[in-house]
Amino acid sequence: MARTVHHTTLIIGGGNAGISVAARLRRAGITDIAILDPANTHYYQPLWTLVGGGRAPITSSARPQAGVIPAGVTWIRDRAETVDPDNQTVTIADGSQVSYDHLVVCPGIQLDWTAIPGMREAIATPRVSSNYTYDLAPKTWERIRSLRSGTAVFTMPAGPIKCAGAPQKIAYLACDYWRGQGVLDDIRVVLVLPTPAIFGVQEFADVLDKVVARYGIELRTNSELIEVDPDSRHAVVVNHTTGIRDDIGYDLMHLVPPQSAPDWIKKSPLADPANPAGYVQVDKYTLQHTRYPNVFSLGDAGNSPNSKTGAAIRKQAPVVVANLLATMAGQPAAQQYDGYASCPLTTARNKMLLAEFDYTMRPHPTFPPRLINTRKERRDMWYLKRHGLPLLYWNLILKGRA
Ligand SMILES: Cc1cc2nc3c(=O)[nH]c(=O)nc-3n(C[C@H](O)[C@H](O)[C@H](O)COP(=O)(O)OP(=O)(O)OC[C@H]3O[C@@H](n4cnc5c(N)ncnc54)[C@H](O)[C@@H]3O)c2cc1C
Repeated sequence: MARTVHHTTLIIGGGNAGISVAARLRRAGITDIAILDPANTHYYQPLWTLVGGGRAPITSSARPQAGVIPAGVTWIRDRAETVDPDNQTVTIADGSQVSYDHLVVCPGIQLDWTAIPGMREAIATPRVSSNYTYDLAPKTWERIRSLRSGTAVFTMPAGPIKCAGAPQKIAYLACDYWRGQGVLDDIRVVLVLPTPAIFGVQEFADVLDKVVARYGIELRTNSELIEVDPDSRHAVVVNHTTGIRDDIGYDLMHLVPPQSAPDWIKKSPLADPANPAGYVQVDKYTLQHTRYPNVFSLGDAGNSPNSKTGAAIRKQAPVVVANLLATMAGQPAAQQYDGYASCPLTTARNKMLLAEFDYTMRPHPTFPPRLINTRKERRDMWYLKRHGLPLLYWNLILKGRA
């Protein structure tokens, strides 16, 4: 018989979302919380864009997981393989089971490296990189630094991804570096986006269109990478509006892999049976599961239609915790998340556009616009991204204080 342990509250995933929720629950006096996560290292992923752009060391994005698990929380060092919400159990990789009264599901998003033919092979070659993993982000900077002429291609896949701004941020950091080196005119820069515009919020799109023009970037909207040939260094890009396929020879390519819900979530009763995307089906305001009231989900694994970012989690975590506490007390989940997310768009090596918005897809500024106008590129926002936000993350967000 498989061994079973029980915890009142079980959190699947000890990333940005899981640690934030655990810390807030502890601060609210909740005991018997377990985090299930196999990873020994915790990553602050937003820094990887700056690592790829040569503006931060990779080591500062990682800390031991043991150091961020809140005191008094049990850490089960294994991964969830299946979940049975009717019987309130999770089966883990060692074959044992963890039963729970309340479940928080936040194992992040899956990188689908085999979804585009040739992508997995290409990423292993010297000219191709991606800021989407800890191991590869430093390689991005190596490639950018050594390119003096030729063609650089930056791609973004269709469908939800974490930090939808990251595929273009690295292009701007690269262009600003090449301009400083006096080689930008010798480099053809192609930015391939699946979306109809550079950004989904008009006010920010207007600023970014000017950034694209400033660097002379060839912008391909409604377009997607559909194949890579790493031997001949060619990327096949299709324009979904015209149907035209273009074969682009590259000297450098920054790839962002297609992403989806973790496979075990897709196959579980927690996913929306009517939606093949397979994310955990929650009410987009309360973040409570629509069929299992003792289950909540936030972060990249949830199906709330916000931009998948740590900034969103900062606003989701207090809502999940308040609604979880209400559920524990037999009350309805009354707190609501408004879809807030932000995207710190690094438009140069010392400038940033802080795009903040919510479910309405309208600007939702944190700072009073008359004091700090975040609808334009700003140098002070760069310092926020490079130094302020990492400090906020490690010292306040992961401790349930912000
Ligand atoms: C290059 C890049 C740039 C980014 N830039 C920004 C930015 O500027 N601003 C911003 O706000 N956000 C940014 N993000 C997005 C942000 O990092 C994510 O949205 C955030 O980390 C999601 O948190 P999460 O807890 O849902 O998932 P994660 O932080 O990814 O954590 C998931 C955790 O679940 C664990 N896990 C996985 N599978 C299992 C399993 N089966 N069982 C148990 N545990 C499991 C993992 O080990 C991990 O610890 C960026 C991301 C990337 C990659």
